[in-house]
Amino acid sequence: MFDQTGSPVRMIGTAQDITERKLLEMEIQMREERYRRLVENSLEAIAIIQDRKFIFINGVGLEMFGVSDMDEIIGQDYLDFLAPSHHEESKIRLAAILSEQPIDPVEFQWRKKNGEVFHAELLGTYIGDNAIKISLRDITERKKTDELLLRSEKLNAVGQLAAGVAHEIRNPLTSLKGFTQMLHAMSKGKEKRYFEIMNAELDRIKMILSEMLVLAKPQSTHFRKSHIKLILHEVITLLSALANMRSVDIQTAFDDNEVAMVLCDENQLKQVFINIIKNAIEAMHSGGILRVHVKTQGNQLCIEFIDQGEGIPEDRIPKVGEPFYTTKEKGTGLGLMVSRKIITAHHGDMEISSKKGHGTTVRVILPVES
Ligand code: ADP
Ligand code: MG
Repeated sequence: MFDQTGSPVRMIGTAQDITERKLLEMEIQMREERYRRLVENSLEAIAIIQDRKFIFINGVGLEMFGVSDMDEIIGQDYLDFLAPSHHEESKIRLAAILSEQPIDPVEFQWRKKNGEVFHAELLGTYIGDNAIKISLRDITERKKTDELLLRSEKLNAVGQLAAGVAHEIRNPLTSLKGFTQMLHAMSKGKEKRYFEIMNAELDRIKMILSEMLVLAKPQSTHFRKSHIKLILHEVITLLSALANMRSVDIQTAFDDNEVAMVLCDENQLKQVFINIIKNAIEAMHSGGILRVHVKTQGNQLCIEFIDQGEGIPEDRIPKVGEPFYTTKEKGTGLGLMVSRKIITAHHGDMEISSKKGHGTTVRVILPVES
Protein backbone atom coordinates (compact mmCIF):
# COMPACT_ATOMS: atom_id res chain seq x y z
CA MET A 1 0.00 0.00 0.00
CA PHE A 2 1.32 3.42 -0.90
CA ASP A 3 0.87 6.84 0.65
CA GLN A 4 0.01 10.04 -1.30
CA THR A 5 3.63 10.54 -2.33
CA GLY A 6 3.82 7.03 -3.75
CA SER A 7 6.18 5.51 -1.19
CA PRO A 8 5.33 2.01 0.11
CA VAL A 9 3.97 1.82 3.63
CA ARG A 10 2.56 -1.67 4.02
CA MET A 11 2.80 -4.94 2.22
CA ILE A 12 0.88 -8.23 2.20
CA GLY A 13 2.38 -11.48 0.98
CA THR A 14 2.04 -15.28 1.10
CA ALA A 15 4.80 -17.81 1.53
CA GLN A 16 4.65 -21.27 -0.02
CA ASP A 17 6.83 -24.27 0.56
CA ILE A 18 8.10 -25.32 -2.85
CA THR A 19 10.67 -27.83 -1.66
CA GLU A 20 8.77 -30.65 -3.25
CA ARG A 21 8.48 -28.91 -6.59
CA LYS A 22 12.17 -28.02 -6.54
CA LEU A 23 13.10 -31.59 -5.73
CA LEU A 24 10.95 -32.81 -8.55
CA GLU A 25 12.51 -30.33 -10.94
CA MET A 26 15.95 -31.41 -9.87
CA GLU A 27 15.06 -35.01 -10.35
CA ILE A 28 13.68 -34.33 -13.82
CA GLN A 29 16.87 -32.49 -14.65
CA MET A 30 18.97 -35.33 -13.34
CA ARG A 31 16.94 -37.85 -15.26
CA GLU A 32 17.25 -35.78 -18.41
CA GLU A 33 21.00 -35.57 -17.88
CA ARG A 34 21.14 -39.30 -17.38
CA TYR A 35 19.22 -39.93 -20.61
CA ARG A 36 21.34 -37.39 -22.45
CA ARG A 37 24.48 -39.18 -21.31
CA LEU A 38 22.96 -42.52 -22.20
CA VAL A 39 22.31 -41.28 -25.73
CA GLU A 40 25.62 -39.47 -26.07
CA ASN A 41 27.69 -42.40 -24.87
CA SER A 42 25.73 -44.99 -26.75
CA LEU A 43 27.76 -47.17 -29.09
CA GLU A 44 25.00 -46.82 -31.63
CA ALA A 45 24.24 -43.77 -33.63
CA ILE A 46 21.05 -42.22 -32.37
CA ALA A 47 19.18 -39.48 -34.16
CA ILE A 48 15.77 -37.88 -34.09
CA ILE A 49 13.98 -37.12 -37.30
CA GLN A 50 11.00 -34.85 -37.59
CA ASP A 51 9.26 -34.20 -40.91
CA ARG A 52 12.11 -36.06 -42.62
CA LYS A 53 14.74 -33.68 -41.16
CA PHE A 54 17.35 -34.40 -38.52
CA ILE A 55 16.63 -32.48 -35.33
CA PHE A 56 19.10 -34.32 -33.12
CA ILE A 57 22.07 -36.64 -33.55
CA ASN A 58 24.61 -38.00 -31.08
CA GLY A 59 28.41 -38.14 -31.37
CA VAL A 60 28.53 -41.63 -32.81
CA GLY A 61 26.05 -40.48 -35.44
CA LEU A 62 28.20 -37.51 -36.41
CA GLU A 63 31.17 -39.81 -36.77
CA MET A 64 29.18 -42.33 -38.78
CA PHE A 65 28.10 -39.72 -41.31
CA GLY A 66 31.58 -38.21 -41.40
CA VAL A 67 30.61 -34.74 -40.20
CA SER A 68 32.38 -32.83 -37.47
CA ASP A 69 29.68 -30.37 -36.56
CA MET A 70 26.02 -30.78 -35.58
CA ASP A 71 25.07 -27.85 -37.81
CA GLU A 72 26.15 -29.79 -40.88
CA ILE A 73 23.45 -32.35 -40.33
CA ILE A 74 20.69 -30.75 -38.25
CA GLY A 75 17.90 -29.55 -40.51
CA GLN A 76 19.03 -31.77 -43.40
CA ASP A 77 16.77 -34.28 -45.10
CA TYR A 78 17.72 -37.84 -44.10
CA LEU A 79 17.27 -38.88 -47.74
CA ASP A 80 20.43 -36.89 -48.57
CA PHE A 81 22.36 -39.48 -46.58
CA LEU A 82 20.53 -42.56 -47.81
CA ALA A 83 21.43 -44.44 -51.02
CA PRO A 84 18.81 -43.56 -53.68
CA SER A 85 17.85 -47.21 -54.15
CA HIS A 86 16.44 -47.26 -50.60
CA HIS A 87 14.44 -44.02 -50.79
CA GLU A 88 11.10 -45.57 -51.69
CA GLU A 89 11.32 -48.31 -49.10
CA SER A 90 12.38 -45.91 -46.40
CA LYS A 91 9.40 -43.64 -47.09
CA ILE A 92 7.00 -46.57 -46.74
CA ARG A 93 8.67 -47.59 -43.48
CA LEU A 94 8.59 -44.04 -42.20
CA ALA A 95 4.84 -43.86 -42.78
CA ALA A 96 4.39 -47.17 -41.00
CA ILE A 97 6.40 -46.00 -37.98
CA LEU A 98 4.45 -42.73 -37.83
CA SER A 99 1.22 -44.69 -37.69
CA GLU A 100 2.81 -46.67 -34.84
CA GLN A 101 2.92 -50.01 -36.56
CA PRO A 102 5.59 -52.38 -35.25
CA ILE A 103 8.49 -52.61 -37.69
CA ASP A 104 11.62 -54.76 -37.88
CA PRO A 105 15.17 -53.42 -38.22
CA VAL A 106 16.36 -53.12 -41.79
CA GLU A 107 19.76 -52.93 -43.52
CA PHE A 108 20.26 -49.86 -45.65
CA GLN A 109 23.16 -48.43 -47.57
CA TRP A 110 24.08 -44.93 -46.43
CA ARG A 111 26.37 -42.24 -47.67
CA LYS A 112 28.88 -40.25 -45.65
CA LYS A 113 29.35 -36.55 -46.31
CA ASN A 114 32.37 -37.35 -48.52
CA GLY A 115 30.32 -39.79 -50.57
CA GLU A 116 31.77 -42.95 -49.05
CA VAL A 117 29.20 -45.72 -48.76
CA PHE A 118 28.54 -47.71 -45.61
CA HIS A 119 25.99 -50.28 -44.50
CA ALA A 120 24.00 -49.75 -41.34
CA GLU A 121 21.16 -51.51 -39.63
CA LEU A 122 18.33 -49.15 -38.85
CA LEU A 123 15.63 -49.28 -36.21
CA GLY A 124 13.05 -46.54 -35.97
CA THR A 125 10.55 -45.87 -33.17
CA TYR A 126 7.85 -43.27 -32.95
CA ILE A 127 8.32 -40.86 -30.06
CA GLY A 128 5.33 -38.60 -30.66
CA ASP A 129 4.95 -35.16 -32.18
CA ASN A 130 5.65 -36.49 -35.68
CA ALA A 131 9.18 -37.35 -34.57
CA ILE A 132 11.01 -40.63 -34.89
CA LYS A 133 14.01 -41.86 -32.99
CA ILE A 134 16.34 -43.88 -35.14
CA SER A 135 19.29 -45.95 -34.09
CA LEU A 136 21.92 -47.03 -36.59
CA ARG A 137 24.55 -49.70 -36.28
CA ASP A 138 27.42 -49.79 -38.78
CA ILE A 139 27.60 -53.28 -40.27
CA THR A 140 29.98 -52.55 -43.16
CA GLU A 141 32.67 -54.83 -41.72
CA ARG A 142 30.22 -57.63 -41.07
CA LYS A 143 28.90 -57.27 -44.62
CA LYS A 144 32.42 -57.45 -46.02
CA THR A 145 33.22 -60.70 -44.23
CA ASP A 146 29.83 -62.11 -45.22
CA GLU A 147 30.53 -61.31 -48.84
CA LEU A 148 34.03 -62.76 -48.69
CA LEU A 149 32.71 -65.94 -47.15
CA LEU A 150 30.02 -66.25 -49.77
CA ARG A 151 32.52 -65.62 -52.51
CA SER A 152 34.99 -68.23 -51.35
CA GLU A 153 32.14 -70.66 -50.76
CA LYS A 154 30.92 -70.16 -54.33
CA LEU A 155 34.44 -70.39 -55.65
CA ASN A 156 35.01 -73.67 -53.91
CA ALA A 157 31.75 -75.09 -55.14
CA VAL A 158 32.55 -74.12 -58.71
CA GLY A 159 36.05 -75.49 -58.36
CA GLN A 160 34.84 -78.85 -57.12
CA LEU A 161 32.19 -79.03 -59.78
CA ALA A 162 34.64 -78.17 -62.52
CA ALA A 163 37.17 -80.67 -61.28
CA GLY A 164 34.56 -83.41 -61.07
CA VAL A 165 33.18 -82.76 -64.54
CA ALA A 166 36.60 -82.40 -66.09
CA HIS A 167 37.83 -85.70 -64.68
CA GLU A 168 34.66 -87.48 -65.73
CA ILE A 169 35.03 -86.28 -69.29
CA ARG A 170 38.73 -86.82 -69.57
CA ASN A 171 38.67 -90.61 -69.47
CA PRO A 172 36.09 -91.22 -72.20
CA LEU A 173 37.84 -88.51 -74.19
CA THR A 174 41.10 -90.46 -74.16
CA SER A 175 39.50 -93.47 -75.79
CA LEU A 176 37.62 -91.30 -78.30
CA LYS A 177 40.86 -89.66 -79.26
CA GLY A 178 42.73 -92.95 -79.54
CA PHE A 179 40.12 -94.55 -81.78
CA THR A 180 39.79 -91.43 -83.90
CA GLN A 181 43.50 -91.52 -84.57
CA MET A 182 43.30 -95.21 -85.38
CA LEU A 183 40.40 -94.65 -87.81
CA HIS A 184 42.27 -91.74 -89.33
CA ALA A 185 45.23 -93.98 -90.06
CA MET A 186 42.96 -96.60 -91.64
CA SER A 187 40.87 -94.19 -93.69
CA LYS A 188 41.51 -92.68 -97.10
CA GLY A 189 40.33 -89.83 -99.27
CA LYS A 190 37.52 -87.61 -97.99
CA GLU A 191 37.13 -89.68 -94.82
CA LYS A 192 40.63 -88.82 -93.76
CA ARG A 193 39.63 -85.14 -93.64
CA TYR A 194 36.60 -85.91 -91.41
CA PHE A 195 38.77 -87.68 -88.90
CA GLU A 196 41.22 -84.78 -88.92
CA ILE A 197 38.39 -82.40 -88.03
CA MET A 198 37.18 -84.77 -85.29
CA ASN A 199 40.68 -84.92 -83.91
CA ALA A 200 41.02 -81.14 -83.88
CA GLU A 201 37.67 -80.76 -82.12
CA LEU A 202 38.66 -83.33 -79.51
CA ASP A 203 41.82 -81.31 -78.91
CA ARG A 204 39.67 -78.26 -78.33
CA ILE A 205 37.53 -80.10 -75.79
CA LYS A 206 40.71 -81.20 -74.04
CA MET A 207 41.89 -77.61 -73.93
CA ILE A 208 38.63 -76.40 -72.40
CA LEU A 209 38.85 -79.17 -69.83
CA SER A 210 42.31 -78.16 -68.77
CA GLU A 211 41.03 -74.59 -68.44
CA MET A 212 38.32 -75.84 -66.12
CA LEU A 213 40.85 -77.81 -64.13
CA VAL A 214 42.70 -74.59 -63.36
CA LEU A 215 39.73 -73.83 -61.14
CA ALA A 216 40.23 -76.94 -59.13
CA LYS A 217 42.77 -77.52 -56.45
CA PRO A 218 45.41 -78.86 -56.51
CA GLN A 219 46.95 -77.44 -59.64
CA SER A 220 49.97 -78.71 -61.40
CA THR A 221 51.94 -75.60 -62.23
CA HIS A 222 55.36 -75.09 -63.66
CA PHE A 223 56.85 -71.91 -62.28
CA ARG A 224 59.78 -70.46 -64.16
CA LYS A 225 61.45 -67.08 -64.43
CA SER A 226 60.05 -65.42 -67.54
CA HIS A 227 59.92 -62.10 -69.33
CA ILE A 228 56.46 -60.59 -69.10
CA LYS A 229 57.06 -58.53 -72.21
CA LEU A 230 57.57 -61.64 -74.32
CA ILE A 231 54.48 -63.33 -72.92
CA LEU A 232 52.40 -60.23 -73.64
CA HIS A 233 53.76 -59.96 -77.19
CA GLU A 234 52.83 -63.56 -77.91
CA VAL A 235 49.31 -63.07 -76.57
CA ILE A 236 48.79 -59.87 -78.52
CA THR A 237 49.99 -61.52 -81.73
CA LEU A 238 47.61 -64.37 -81.07
CA LEU A 239 44.68 -62.00 -80.63
CA SER A 240 45.56 -59.48 -83.34
CA ALA A 241 43.30 -61.15 -85.92
CA LEU A 242 40.32 -60.94 -83.57
CA ALA A 243 41.18 -57.33 -82.73
CA ASN A 244 41.41 -56.42 -86.40
CA MET A 245 38.05 -57.96 -87.11
CA ARG A 246 36.49 -55.76 -84.40
CA SER A 247 38.43 -52.62 -85.46
CA VAL A 248 40.34 -52.60 -82.23
CA ASP A 249 43.86 -51.22 -82.27
CA ILE A 250 46.12 -52.68 -79.60
CA GLN A 251 48.84 -50.20 -78.62
CA THR A 252 51.64 -51.21 -76.31
CA ALA A 253 53.79 -48.99 -74.15
CA PHE A 254 56.50 -50.93 -72.39
CA ASP A 255 59.29 -49.36 -70.39
CA ASP A 256 62.28 -49.66 -72.71
CA ASN A 257 64.60 -50.85 -70.06
CA GLU A 258 61.95 -53.24 -68.89
CA VAL A 259 63.87 -56.39 -68.19
CA ALA A 260 62.03 -57.44 -65.08
CA MET A 261 61.50 -61.16 -64.72
CA VAL A 262 58.56 -62.73 -63.02
CA LEU A 263 58.42 -66.17 -61.48
CA CYS A 264 55.39 -67.59 -63.21
CA ASP A 265 53.63 -70.32 -65.07
CA GLU A 266 53.76 -68.95 -68.59
CA ASN A 267 50.70 -70.74 -69.86
CA GLN A 268 48.60 -69.62 -66.94
CA LEU A 269 49.65 -65.99 -67.32
CA LYS A 270 48.88 -66.22 -71.03
CA GLN A 271 45.43 -67.44 -70.14
CA VAL A 272 44.97 -64.43 -67.85
CA PHE A 273 46.08 -61.93 -70.51
CA ILE A 274 43.92 -63.58 -73.18
CA ASN A 275 40.90 -63.34 -70.85
CA ILE A 276 41.49 -59.68 -70.11
CA ILE A 277 42.22 -58.65 -73.70
CA LYS A 278 39.24 -60.60 -75.05
CA ASN A 279 36.96 -58.89 -72.53
CA ALA A 280 38.33 -55.51 -73.60
CA ILE A 281 37.80 -56.27 -77.31
CA GLU A 282 34.28 -57.52 -76.59
CA ALA A 283 33.48 -54.35 -74.65
CA MET A 284 34.39 -52.09 -77.60
CA HIS A 285 31.37 -52.70 -79.80
CA SER A 286 32.35 -50.17 -82.42
CA GLY A 287 36.11 -50.54 -82.17
CA GLY A 288 38.63 -48.34 -80.42
CA ILE A 289 42.04 -48.44 -78.84
CA LEU A 290 43.26 -50.88 -76.23
CA ARG A 291 46.38 -49.67 -74.46
CA VAL A 292 48.67 -52.15 -72.76
CA HIS A 293 51.18 -50.56 -70.39
CA VAL A 294 53.93 -52.27 -68.46
CA LYS A 295 55.71 -50.43 -65.65
CA THR A 296 57.90 -51.43 -62.76
CA GLN A 297 57.11 -49.93 -59.39
CA GLY A 298 59.78 -50.89 -56.90
CA ASN A 299 59.75 -54.65 -56.72
CA GLN A 300 56.41 -54.93 -58.43
CA LEU A 301 55.44 -55.13 -62.05
CA CYS A 302 52.25 -53.36 -63.06
CA ILE A 303 50.50 -54.35 -66.27
CA GLU A 304 47.60 -52.13 -67.30
CA PHE A 305 44.94 -52.86 -69.91
CA ILE A 306 43.04 -49.68 -70.70
CA ASP A 307 40.10 -50.00 -73.05
CA GLN A 308 37.59 -47.56 -74.51
CA GLY A 309 34.67 -49.94 -74.19
CA GLU A 310 31.22 -49.65 -72.70
CA GLY A 311 32.55 -49.71 -69.14
CA ILE A 312 30.91 -51.27 -66.10
CA PRO A 313 28.26 -49.52 -63.98
CA GLU A 314 29.61 -48.71 -60.52
CA ASP A 315 27.28 -51.03 -58.65
CA ARG A 316 28.18 -53.97 -60.91
CA ILE A 317 31.94 -53.76 -60.38
CA PRO A 318 31.94 -55.95 -57.24
CA LYS A 319 29.97 -58.58 -59.18
CA VAL A 320 32.55 -58.82 -61.95
CA GLY A 321 34.74 -61.86 -61.36
CA GLU A 322 32.12 -63.73 -59.42
CA PRO A 323 31.47 -67.19 -60.82
CA PHE A 324 28.93 -67.13 -63.65
CA TYR A 325 28.47 -63.37 -63.61
CA THR A 326 28.26 -62.39 -67.25
CA THR A 327 26.44 -59.78 -69.29
CA LYS A 328 27.15 -61.55 -72.57
CA GLU A 329 24.80 -63.84 -74.40
CA LYS A 330 27.55 -66.39 -74.96
CA GLY A 331 29.64 -65.53 -71.90
CA THR A 332 30.61 -68.04 -69.25
CA GLY A 333 31.29 -65.58 -66.45
CA LEU A 334 34.34 -67.64 -65.53
CA GLY A 335 37.12 -65.74 -67.31
CA LEU A 336 37.92 -63.16 -64.67
CA MET A 337 37.40 -65.58 -61.84
CA VAL A 338 39.97 -67.97 -63.29
CA SER A 339 42.27 -65.00 -63.94
CA ARG A 340 42.00 -63.77 -60.39
CA LYS A 341 42.73 -67.23 -59.05
CA ILE A 342 45.83 -67.53 -61.21
CA ILE A 343 47.11 -64.09 -60.21
CA THR A 344 46.56 -64.85 -56.53
CA ALA A 345 48.56 -68.07 -56.95
CA HIS A 346 51.34 -65.87 -58.34
CA HIS A 347 51.20 -63.70 -55.18
CA GLY A 348 49.91 -60.85 -57.27
CA ASP A 349 46.83 -58.72 -57.38
CA MET A 350 44.20 -57.80 -59.94
CA GLU A 351 42.17 -54.57 -59.80
CA ILE A 352 39.38 -53.37 -62.03
CA SER A 353 38.30 -49.77 -62.29
CA SER A 354 35.66 -48.62 -64.69
CA LYS A 355 33.20 -45.93 -65.53
CA LYS A 356 30.05 -46.62 -67.48
CA GLY A 357 30.54 -45.29 -71.01
CA HIS A 358 34.19 -44.36 -70.46
CA GLY A 359 36.01 -47.66 -70.62
CA THR A 360 37.63 -50.03 -68.20
CA THR A 361 41.11 -50.43 -66.78
CA VAL A 362 42.31 -53.78 -65.56
CA ARG A 363 45.52 -53.68 -63.54
CA VAL A 364 47.57 -56.79 -62.88
CA ILE A 365 50.33 -56.50 -60.30
CA LEU A 366 52.99 -59.18 -60.00
CA PRO A 367 56.04 -59.42 -57.77
CA VAL A 368 59.33 -59.08 -59.63
CA GLU A 369 61.90 -61.85 -59.32
CA SER A 370 65.27 -60.37 -58.48
P1 ADP B 1 32.56 -63.41 -69.72
O1 ADP B 1 33.56 -62.68 -70.57
O2 ADP B 1 32.36 -64.83 -70.13
O3 ADP B 1 31.26 -62.68 -69.58
P2 ADP B 1 34.32 -62.67 -67.56
O4 ADP B 1 34.53 -63.23 -66.20
O5 ADP B 1 35.49 -62.60 -68.45
O6 ADP B 1 33.16 -63.54 -68.23
O7 ADP B 1 33.67 -61.23 -67.41
C1 ADP B 1 32.52 -61.06 -66.63
C2 ADP B 1 31.78 -59.81 -66.99
O8 ADP B 1 32.53 -58.68 -66.59
C3 ADP B 1 31.50 -59.60 -68.45
O9 ADP B 1 30.35 -60.27 -68.88
C4 ADP B 1 31.35 -58.08 -68.55
O10 ADP B 1 30.06 -57.69 -68.18
C5 ADP B 1 32.29 -57.59 -67.46
N1 ADP B 1 33.57 -57.12 -68.03
C6 ADP B 1 34.76 -57.76 -67.96
N2 ADP B 1 35.74 -57.05 -68.57
C7 ADP B 1 35.16 -55.94 -69.06
C8 ADP B 1 35.62 -54.78 -69.82
N3 ADP B 1 36.91 -54.66 -70.20
N4 ADP B 1 34.72 -53.82 -70.13
C9 ADP B 1 33.42 -53.94 -69.75
N5 ADP B 1 32.92 -54.99 -69.06
C10 ADP B 1 33.76 -55.98 -68.71
MG1 MG C 1 35.62 -63.01 -70.62
